[in-house]
Amino acid sequence: MSNIDTFRRHGLFDARVPRYTSYPPANHFVEGAGQRNQQDWLQAVPDGTDVSIYIHIPFCKRLCWFCACRTQGTKTMRPVDAYVTILCKEIMAVRRSLPDTVNMSRLHLGGGTPTILSPETMTQLLRCVFAAFTHAPDFEFSVEIDPTEAAPDLLQTLIDFGLTRASLGVQDFSEKVQQAIGRPQTLEQTQTVILFLREQNVSSLNLDVLYGLPHQTLESFTRTLDHVLALQPDRLAIYGYAHVPWMSKRQVMIKPDDLPDTLMRLALAAAADRVFTENGYQAIGIDHFTLPDDSLAHASTTGMLRRNFQGYTDDQSQILLGFGASAISKLPQGYAQNTPATFAYQERIEANGFASFKGFAMSTKDRMMAQVIEDLMCRFIFNEAALGEAFPTYHADIRAMAVSLMQKFSDVFFISSKGLELKPAAYPLVRVIAGYLDDRTTQQTAHSSAI
Ligand code: SF4
Repeated sequence: MSNIDTFRRHGLFDARVPRYTSYPPANHFVEGAGQRNQQDWLQAVPDGTDVSIYIHIPFCKRLCWFCACRTQGTKTMRPVDAYVTILCKEIMAVRRSLPDTVNMSRLHLGGGTPTILSPETMTQLLRCVFAAFTHAPDFEFSVEIDPTEAAPDLLQTLIDFGLTRASLGVQDFSEKVQQAIGRPQTLEQTQTVILFLREQNVSSLNLDVLYGLPHQTLESFTRTLDHVLALQPDRLAIYGYAHVPWMSKRQVMIKPDDLPDTLMRLALAAAADRVFTENGYQAIGIDHFTLPDDSLAHASTTGMLRRNFQGYTDDQSQILLGFGASAISKLPQGYAQNTPATFAYQERIEANGFASFKGFAMSTKDRMMAQVIEDLMCRFIFNEAALGEAFPTYHADIRAMAVSLMQKFSDVFFISSKGLELKPAAYPLVRVIAGYLDDRTTQQTAHSSAI
């Protein structure tokens, strides 16, 4: 039986499943499990803990049609500057709830477009963060960069504050594809930013590429991949475009008839895999590639790869603090998400320093399922023995899942010293398999295509 037959038999081409950047996915968060829990959980953080920090900047000068990020368009900097002032208030309020001795191991600025900030406003924000949190010895500071909105003086400000990793959005270099997704961006603009960052010794560069966009063909996408390869990024994320116009209104601008079908999506993803693995990159999880000396490659090889809201990470911190509108904090006890509307976020912070409105308190069973899903997504294994040891109360559930997996997916798993291990040719099925084990009822329309 060919791979395609196997994928079809297991429903890959029809399934809509979570990306599992968290367990449970954020659409299971409930109102009310927010602010009160968050403050209790923050106060319970042990002395000396390393925390990761994510700061969301929900503003863009342009609104690309394909993008489902929580962001809003702005022509002026006034709302952005006002937002950053409020962000600093939130950072200080959260910091006051934590023990004095926590250290910041990671700082990531995402959006939206973090590089929309002026150098002065970025300085204000970063001074606030670094005044609040001492950084750990292996601290990493990363920023998402729109190459069309990255002024040299702003980049220099980030570098002066110790930028270690930059993640640049590329999506596709074809003009026809760019027109169809409302995102013009020349190869030269991307090259200029990369050159600047490399000259300033920013040690790690990541590029984001999307397959499944309108008008993409194998030929056009391969040209984009060749350009990307020539830029020699340290890391690559190759995501599948999720067409969900009922959730992301901007996507109504994209004509469904222009989108590649699921077989073509599979071929485009396979082309990316071939181009990068044949040119010295190591495949990481389902959609990342890195040079072999990258820390993500090391984490993958040693079984330490993790999953977070940005995709794959080698960050081992158990605590992620999210700041800004819609940002999610993850603590051992559960998740707390800030209100998504920028105005409501600002009002809540002004009122009492916190803005969480939704969240999720994790039971032991949820923690067990989170481990099952992370093992599958990061290591492609179901390790019954290790799970049973970590969650002895759920021994019977773990056994039942192992039996069920071998009944339904026996053709794609094999037995190894790690337990049940997915065959590499079946890695594209991993989200379908995770969704099969996840017994939380889930609305199909809330998720993206499995390929
Ligand atoms: S792709 Fe980037 S610039 Fe475009 S709307 Fe999304 S966040 Fe904004």
